[in-house]
Amino acid sequence: MLYILRLNHRIKRDKRITTHCALTGRAFGADGMIFTGEKDDNIVKSVEDIIKRWGGEFKISYSSRWQNFLTKMKEQNYTIVHLTMYGIQLLEAIPKIRRKKNLVVIVGGEKVPSEIYEKADYNISVGLQPHSEVAALAVFFHEYFKGKELTREFDEIKFKKGLKIVPQKKGKKLIKK
Ligand code: SAM
Repeated sequence: MLYILRLNHRIKRDKRITTHCALTGRAFGADGMIFTGEKDDNIVKSVEDIIKRWGGEFKISYSSRWQNFLTKMKEQNYTIVHLTMYGIQLLEAIPKIRRKKNLVVIVGGEKVPSEIYEKADYNISVGLQPHSEVAALAVFFHEYFKGKELTREFDEIKFKKGLKIVPQKKGKKLIKK
């Protein structure tokens, strides 16, 4: 199982980016996302609307304390990966991380508490420049799954019902299951 922990959500500033962390995770192989910071029912609602229309079993929820969530996941032998521009380079660490099947992937917000760097099993940089939570997640998943996340037959694994895109040279084709 693969979960995202998104830290320090701010209702006014992060509405889209937190939603996009969840949608990117969902599209590229995560099983769920927990967000901390300000409680925001709209994030849960908009991600659940997408799941309702497009299918899948992605879980989205809020937690007021990331400490409790991380303790619980560590007890269950999850490997904690924190994405930060200050960490070890992704390409150096990914062969080891790929061997772990249960992961929590943490992305921060404006400020990341120093305890996160300590609690993480791996602090990983996706390039050595500041960019975005969404980009960091997408590139991390791409390397973790070696690109297979792009062609996975979603409907057989998770998508029992929902919309399915049939790729077209031009125009749009959708099947509703
Ligand atoms: N100072 C932050 C850092 O440590 O990466 C950049 C803040 S950025 C607005 C918010 C989040 O995006 C970070 O907490 C991190 O999870 C992710 N992020 C941004 N740039 C990254 C990079 N080069 N490598 C890995 N993660 C990055």
